Amino acid sequence: MTFTTRFAPSPTGPLHLGHAYSALLAHDMAASEGGEFLLRIEDIDQSRSRPHWEEQIYNDLSWLGLRWPKPVMRQSERQVIYDAALDKLWQRGFLFPCSCNRKDIAAAVSAPQEGAPLLGPDGVIYPGTCRHRAPGSEDIPRPRAEALRLDMTKAARHIFDRNALVGQFVEHGTGPDGETGTVKFTPEELITTIGDVALARRGMGTSYHLSVVLDDAAQGITRVVRGQDLFDATRIHVLLQALLDLPVPEYFHHDLIRDQNGKRLAKRDDARAISKYRSDGASPEDIRAMVGL
Ligand code: GLU
Repeated sequence: MTFTTRFAPSPTGPLHLGHAYSALLAHDMAASEGGEFLLRIEDIDQSRSRPHWEEQIYNDLSWLGLRWPKPVMRQSERQVIYDAALDKLWQRGFLFPCSCNRKDIAAAVSAPQEGAPLLGPDGVIYPGTCRHRAPGSEDIPRPRAEALRLDMTKAARHIFDRNALVGQFVEHGTGPDGETGTVKFTPEELITTIGDVALARRGMGTSYHLSVVLDDAAQGITRVVRGQDLFDATRIHVLLQALLDLPVPEYFHHDLIRDQNGKRLAKRDDARAISKYRSDGASPEDIRAMVGL
């Protein structure tokens, strides 16, 4: 199998120094292994994705000296693949429709008996309000207009009962608490610290978690290089890979580039945009030096 990395930006704003670091790391890692570096445009959120940001991604990355095979995978062209996976999970009874909005969830978790709301990789852990709506039979068609959540208790128990070794992945970088090497997790951890994550969001037909595992598999990614902010989501991805019979890549989570106050850079942080440094006369080597490469 060819050693393959990827950079998977969303075209919802300018790439900044943090993106440059991630892309250069993934690119250099593939080059030093004689492997391949791929690009993927993560544009499932069509309400925020814009063609001009996608154009700018190509411009910025080429200017940095990166090259990648074309055509580039774009998530907005892969809905049939996401639908097929959702159908499979729905028929096996792992999904339930959910009509809760953020306010409903916040209200449910702030009920007096609930204690402080627990936070997971996607924010407040879902309190299970709609879980009773799981279809009783596989003949019920999958709703298209609503969000679909994974019944985490059912999914985790099913997978771990079949193979207890499923709860692990290889980390070549480090997690936020220094996790490295073989990182292990239990079904109880998935249930209590992640919960029923959304696999299809209303009006989107998929979710980051579902798309990323299907796309990494389709692109033959063997080493996922990305920021530590996504480390906690990796347990969700490994579970989904098991549920969907997909290979588990190895991971390299890198530290995040922060501003002088220690705050992580955001998309709207235009002052750190690669294009801004570029127009101020910086060279690609200057950018490499700024991110410590
Ligand atoms: N599209 C995600 C982002 O721009 C990256 C996803 C990933 O690397 O898994 O933050």
